[in-house]
Amino acid sequence: MSPQMEEKVEAIYQEVLRRNPGEVEFHQAVREVIETLGPVLVKHPEFSERKIIQRICEPERQIIFRVPWQDDKGEVHINRGFRVEFNSALGPYKGGLRLHPSVYLGIIKFLGFEQIFKNSLTGMPIGGGKGGSDFDPKGRSDDEIMRFCQSFMTELYRHLGEHTDVPAGDIGVGGREIGYLFGQYKRITNRYEAGVLTGKGLDWGGSLVRTEATGYGATFFVSEMLKARKDSFGGKTCLVSGSGNVAIYTIEKIHQLGGKCVACSDSNGVIYHEKGLDLDLIKQLKEVERRRIKDYVEFHKDAKYIASGNIWDIPCQVAMPSATQNEINGKDAQKLVKNGCIAVGEGANMPTTPEGVKVFLEAKIAYGPGKAANAGGVATSALEMQQNASRDAWTFEYTEKKLEEIMVGIHRLCYDTAEEYGFPSNYVVGANIAGFIKVAKAMVAHGLI
Ligand code: NDP
Repeated sequence: MSPQMEEKVEAIYQEVLRRNPGEVEFHQAVREVIETLGPVLVKHPEFSERKIIQRICEPERQIIFRVPWQDDKGEVHINRGFRVEFNSALGPYKGGLRLHPSVYLGIIKFLGFEQIFKNSLTGMPIGGGKGGSDFDPKGRSDDEIMRFCQSFMTELYRHLGEHTDVPAGDIGVGGREIGYLFGQYKRITNRYEAGVLTGKGLDWGGSLVRTEATGYGATFFVSEMLKARKDSFGGKTCLVSGSGNVAIYTIEKIHQLGGKCVACSDSNGVIYHEKGLDLDLIKQLKEVERRRIKDYVEFHKDAKYIASGNIWDIPCQVAMPSATQNEINGKDAQKLVKNGCIAVGEGANMPTTPEGVKVFLEAKIAYGPGKAANAGGVATSALEMQQNASRDAWTFEYTEKKLEEIMVGIHRLCYDTAEEYGFPSNYVVGANIAGFIKVAKAMVAHGLI
């Protein structure tokens, strides 16, 4: 980047810092994108003239609301709800809802910002948004979850619509929560508007493969990165952090493609099973019985539970962080590379710190950033919307094939864009530029709004 361009981008970033104090994750996400956009501004001076980057960094609408609910003992709780409708240049706002005690505006804005470019990369007609609450679902009964979801939707419903804003799941929000949210939306609006939420149950408008989509998609993306290096998952030792929705279906696809996943984790510790994880058991513990992964060792005496362990200490060839943001720091990245890791595919959003990303890029390993690698989830949500609109239901095989084609397409787009702009094999640059250009062109076409 020329010094003038660097100065220009830095000034935009400083303005983002000034306008959004304390929102550190949002700052990080913005910095990571805009510092790669210099070459685009050179090629497209109209984007600078119309202040497209500055406008992209400012959400179109931010909604913050009170969510009161009662627990099983009758005690009243008050949480805070968020929905950030970030950018609708390419379609209705689309992005998940996160329920986790760490949620605040800065987390929702980082996720919503990333979502704009991710959704653009899918090639589907969807804009970017994200929402959630600082509610902690851990240890809550079914009834408590339902009461919380009903209260949350009682405010949120007025902002949603199949052509306006279409939420889905994220951390703490799976099929059960989407069911309660949809039920309340239907009750208040008196409309069976299937396309207003994705991740629905299969009996009432959901799409096959949506549950598997993010994990499967991330694994397809890594498989494409490996193919580009004339390699494959066959026989590779892999690590997958987390043990939630994304982690489980990443492990499943890795095993189907011939890799061996030896460890997964949660916020309390790590399970290490050298001969390969028993995925049926993990599904039973996590999806059916809603237990913690430490219980895995009750069933496999040769597996180890490492309380407060760091999964990235375990040697592997492929690492797929699938838990949360900033879970791989610079030191973890160095350790991974030193231990022989040749590919990293991010199932989670922004799981690698800027220092970690630098290590991966300098080591020239295959590094697939979240906004490209985990786009399969939202892409399949868009397929769910398509099926809802046409009142159709596709088979598992057909939908999975579509997902795979989309991921192959995203990989190709990122790969080719990186080459075109002079950064061969740099998927960070490829994903940011390819995702940005489409949104920017649409914003120019729509005028100053
Ligand atoms: P789940 O709630 O199903 O699972 C999250 C997993 O990550 C759990 O094992 C959880 O452990 C762990 N985790 C969450 N927060 C932390 C934390 N602060 N520290 C350590 N571990 C943590 O969520 P998903 O699998 O849906 O989401 C995982 C990641 O994937 C997120 O970054 C999400 O944004 C991203 N993503 C999800 C998509 C989807 O379709 N669901 C789509 C695209 C991206 P514990 O139970 O101990 O909290």
